[in-house]
Amino acid sequence: MSDTIETYPEIREAVGRLCARFPGSYWRELDRDMAYPQAFVDALTEAGWLSVLIPEDYGGAGLPLSAAAAVLEEMQRAGCNGGACHAQMYTMGTLLRHGSEAQKQRYLPEIAAGRLRLQAFGVTEPTSGTDTAALKTMARREGDHFIVNGQKIWTSRAEHSDLMLLLARTTPQTEGMKRTAGLSVLLVDMREARGNGLTIRPIRTMMNHATTEVFFDNLRVPAENLIGEEGRGFRYILSGMNAERILIAAECVGDAKWFLDKAAGYARERVVFGRAIGQNQGVQFPIAKAYANMRAAELMVHEALRLYERGDNPGAEANMAKMLAADAAFEAANVCIQTHGGFGFAEEYDIERKFRETRLYQVAPISTNLILSYLAEHVLGLPRSY
Ligand SMILES: Cc1cc2nc3c(=O)[nH]c(=O)nc-3n(C[C@H](O)[C@H](O)[C@H](O)COP(=O)(O)OP(=O)(O)OC[C@H]3O[C@@H](n4cnc5c(N)ncnc54)[C@H](O)[C@@H]3O)c2cc1C
Repeated sequence: MSDTIETYPEIREAVGRLCARFPGSYWRELDRDMAYPQAFVDALTEAGWLSVLIPEDYGGAGLPLSAAAAVLEEMQRAGCNGGACHAQMYTMGTLLRHGSEAQKQRYLPEIAAGRLRLQAFGVTEPTSGTDTAALKTMARREGDHFIVNGQKIWTSRAEHSDLMLLLARTTPQTEGMKRTAGLSVLLVDMREARGNGLTIRPIRTMMNHATTEVFFDNLRVPAENLIGEEGRGFRYILSGMNAERILIAAECVGDAKWFLDKAAGYARERVVFGRAIGQNQGVQFPIAKAYANMRAAELMVHEALRLYERGDNPGAEANMAKMLAADAAFEAANVCIQTHGGFGFAEEYDIERKFRETRLYQVAPISTNLILSYLAEHVLGLPRSY
């Protein structure tokens, strides 16, 4: 058991080199057209960076979560946007931990080889929102199939993924039943499903995120695509959430570093009133403060990773890491815009684009209020507020 985490300098260096092939101009063009960064995702897949968590026996690198965190942090730090593909890292855990050997043999080597994409994760619904147990999408067993009816919203990357991990109700909610019981996870092969009961509609958003709403109309999913046991899906999804939060936190730390580098660099060079603007404390202090908050968040990410890799289930640290890192990234984004004055709003500086992109992590995959509720209830012993 180690008391520290590996920081993977060689992975960071290699990811940084790959990302340098995708400069701001690449992202600006995609942003204008709301287009998917296919070339970027292909390059990451070819280099094996999206399959670092897949065990070697199934064709991946078999590395721990801190390696995936290093990959994602470096992408963001380089000004790229991992939102196009990060889900492959965190949806993987559900298949790895709860999938059958046959499912793992069938899908993991194909994903590792880049022939199959597992990028879509269908949990959120329009009427239930954060209250996942209230979701309404039904998967009714009929012989050796599930028949799925319902709707998901914010299913990101559905148009650019072959597989979707879907959380649906397999047993209708009845009185006295635990709210989280009766939910199951299905692996939906969207290549067969589109046009046969599955409809995907893109949603245009503030940033280029390839997110969609998804409709199920008597979609037939083979029963062999059930992950784990029927009715235990909520637990399976929950068990992947700590990894997801830690990875998103690592991305936010990467964003914060990008903004801070930009802000400090500009503050050193921009001359107004005959001196560098960074000589003014009113300019340098906010950057220094944002740096301190980024470092504190980074340490919490490391602590969450350390506990996770030791085999713990660090709910509090994963949640705190996500909240602190999302806040640090947004603070750094704001400071970066302010430091740049009017130029912060100009597309060609990439700051306004990254500002929009990093804003998301105050809300998704879990909003700050829900993290605070978790800490209040589970760490501080306060009454549950909802
Ligand atoms: C671009 C984007 C991509 C996404 N990608 C995916 C995806 O791939 N798959 C997926 O399943 N989901 C995805 N989501 C959904 C995301 O996880 C949810 O938006 C998020 O969890 C919040 O849920 P909601 O939007 O339904 O907000 P709601 O649950 O309606 O909440 C609205 C607001 O009320 C607050 N609130 C709600 N209840 C409480 C309470 N009890 N106490 C205090 N405050 C409360 C929330 O904090 C929030 O600020 C994505 C969302 C976006 C915007």
